[in-house]
Amino acid sequence: MEQVTQLRKAAVANVRPRSVVVLGATGSIGQSTAEIIAGSDGAFTVQAVAGGRDGAALARVARRLGAKFAALSEPDGYADLKEGLAGTAIEAAAGPEAVIAAALQPSDIVMGAIAGAAGVAPTFAALAAGRTIALANKECLVCAGPAFMRQAAASGTKLLPVDSEHNAIFQAMGDAEPAAIEMITLTASGGPFRTWTREAIAKATPEQALNHPNWSMGPKVTIDSAGLMNKGLEIIEAHYLFGIEAARLDVLVHAQSVVHGLVAFTDGSVTAGLAAPDMKVPIAHCLSHPNRIVTKARRLDLASLGQLTFERPDFDRFPALRVALDALRTGRGLPTVLNAANEIAVDAFLKRLISFHEIAQMVEEACEAALSDGVAREPDSIAEALAIDGAVRERARAALRRH
Ligand code: NAD
Ligand code: MG
Repeated sequence: MEQVTQLRKAAVANVRPRSVVVLGATGSIGQSTAEIIAGSDGAFTVQAVAGGRDGAALARVARRLGAKFAALSEPDGYADLKEGLAGTAIEAAAGPEAVIAAALQPSDIVMGAIAGAAGVAPTFAALAAGRTIALANKECLVCAGPAFMRQAAASGTKLLPVDSEHNAIFQAMGDAEPAAIEMITLTASGGPFRTWTREAIAKATPEQALNHPNWSMGPKVTIDSAGLMNKGLEIIEAHYLFGIEAARLDVLVHAQSVVHGLVAFTDGSVTAGLAAPDMKVPIAHCLSHPNRIVTKARRLDLASLGQLTFERPDFDRFPALRVALDALRTGRGLPTVLNAANEIAVDAFLKRLISFHEIAQMVEEACEAALSDGVAREPDSIAEALAIDGAVRERARAALRRH
């Protein structure tokens, strides 16, 4: 083992460090990314970091990673950022344009780890500038999948999936043609309500929904996971990323979160991606792709786990999954509508304005309303996707005020 580590270090020493931009550097994925970079023995240098509103936290991660530039989206946090960076040569800026400037700093790879559709514009800017993207921010693809995939194809740039299921599938797929794939399966842990009754889930509190059994993540994705909306968003993400239609995308509930994704081929073979539930594994994979680095991420110990279980998802107890799959099957602009309405609904739930079961209800109503008034045409560009996103948010907020 020691010899292998020495060999790896020598290999790393012979390669120019890869330069990285981290968008969403203060979040859960951002912090795990920082750990991978800080523990990589110089395999990476950091050009820029960007965050939302916490200037002091952004300054800390910028210092830790030796970033050249730190950008905060919310101008109110600029003073804290400046104060935190005092005595360093790290440049600071604030506002949405500053986040785009961070995304466009010269780099080999951009970690897209902003939460929500707030990540669409900066992540797309980096993609359009030809950067390889390590994409954690699944809402980019749910909101504007066709535009992202078309841009990636046009500029010949890679979108590497950080989301653990998609990362596992990406690795399990190898270089198979889409036609050779019979079924792609994403697993879901089932979240904290896996064994709860429909009635109990309907009344769940934010504290209960935030208490995920296997993963420690940001609040939005944790709430999405509790209702299986997250799996719905991920099926849509997989549809765009792998170019596979809804009929060949499946979900299995797998409480241990060890098998993250499976690929079944037309000859009956099945490959799967396994790892301990630790986001540092897919993050390290994307950052070093197509090479591998050594990490201290959790290791998988199957013998001590003893058994792995799988079950069908229950659409009756988890209606959000059905609503998301319906949006994908209907297509047009519905994934964009679904994503926007869901962001507003999750926020309202966290502020205790609506109950847990009203999240899926609100999203379904937004989809129905969009279908009946023509808002739901497929967005052709980022601008069109963000226009639909804005209109749906406006309408969802108005519905909340009447609530
Ligand atoms: P988080 O809430 O912990 O972090 C979000 C980050 O985005 C923060 O740094 C925040 O400051 C930043 N941000 C928000 N608005 C911004 C803006 N306008 N400009 C710049 N930065 C902004 O979220 P997270 O759990 O790290 O998740 C990030 C993304 O990765 C989400 O799309 C999530 O679905 C996805 N994801 C997360 C996990 C996980 O384990 N956390 C797993 C798979 C996928
Ligand atoms: Mg996931």
